[in-house]
Amino acid sequence: MSLSLRAKSIKPSPTLAITSKAKAMKARGEDVVSLSAGEPDFDTPENVKEAAIRAIREGFTKYTPASGIDELKDAVIFAYKRDKGLEYKRENILISCGGKHAIYNILQALVDDGVEVIIPAPYWVSYPPMVVLAGGKPVIVETRKEEGFKLKPEDLERSITGKTRVVILNYPSNPAGTFYSKEDLENLCEVLRKYPDVYIISDEIYGRLVYDGETFVSIASLGEDIKERTFVVDGVSKTYSMTGWRIGYVAGPSDIIKAMSNIQSQSTSNPTSIAQKAAVEALTGPQDEVERRRRIFEERRDKISQLLSTIEGVEVIKPKGAFYIFPSFKAILQNRGLKSFEFSERLLDEAKVATVPGVEFGCEYHLRLSFAATMEDLEKGVERIKSFIEKL
Ligand code: PLP
Repeated sequence: MSLSLRAKSIKPSPTLAITSKAKAMKARGEDVVSLSAGEPDFDTPENVKEAAIRAIREGFTKYTPASGIDELKDAVIFAYKRDKGLEYKRENILISCGGKHAIYNILQALVDDGVEVIIPAPYWVSYPPMVVLAGGKPVIVETRKEEGFKLKPEDLERSITGKTRVVILNYPSNPAGTFYSKEDLENLCEVLRKYPDVYIISDEIYGRLVYDGETFVSIASLGEDIKERTFVVDGVSKTYSMTGWRIGYVAGPSDIIKAMSNIQSQSTSNPTSIAQKAAVEALTGPQDEVERRRRIFEERRDKISQLLSTIEGVEVIKPKGAFYIFPSFKAILQNRGLKSFEFSERLLDEAKVATVPGVEFGCEYHLRLSFAATMEDLEKGVERIKSFIEKL
């Protein structure tokens, strides 16, 4: 088999791999507690499903414009104004097949061979491979758990070189629920203003899942000069429990959005017509379900943080958003000569708990646990981890 260098450079998404292994074990009748999922455990709201069914019945089942239908672009403009205070025109919007696809398109449009893309660690697993697929070089910048895994302005500045084209920010983050306040973002902008050729990808896919009464602020709202070079990425997957529908979107400078639309038109064409209609309903319909689910996630966040803190040697960093927690098991693992990958594998095989090893997010000795699970599963899962560690 003679694979391309590009294909050889990429391995499958570890989160999807672990989740499917856990699913296969469950299907064989094994009692697996899954704390590895990257999606809400709630169903898509009924009004959204109805909108899709209506679209099918009305025959809205053909190609749409490659960059998405105007109705959905208008819904995104409406939602970005409502949720982020940002104003855009249709020419600034691209609808893609998920937020992941939107980010892929941005990187394809901006990154040439050898171009550097700054990614703070811990990072979402897909950023580095997507940079590599575009021919670029991921520049990983370490953050500290003691500082809530936030990128420090001086570390950002130190990482910028003449080859830097993009900085990727994700908040609240996957895997640690890292959150940037307005002040944090202003401090980063102070550095970014010195480097006007650097673009910002602001991955705000968890922006509506924020806890402790914090207010989400988009970096693009901190000045027209910043907005002009920021790509604000969002989607319906996490907010509206629509991971399978594959609708994400991005707002950004119109000339680059146009180039991204061209790339999309020659690769996937339009995102699914029916799913686009469903996304219009999700964004413009009633929003009470979003808040109800956010509250449930916050309760679960409190629960899992408390449960994990009862395990000796585990360091809990309480997430400020999203539905993942990223505790450190360093004291336990180093003592026993274990790394996060083997630990996570053994937890699945021997204790029947699915987690994702920290190394996949660029952070050894941590595990990512998803609290998109029932309270019972959170209790059962953490209890199993606890007794597994006691027997190690
Ligand atoms: N960004 C982050 C940080 C994510 O965790 C995910 C999904 O796991 C995405 C983007 C992409 O989501 P989707 O492609 O379903 O919109």
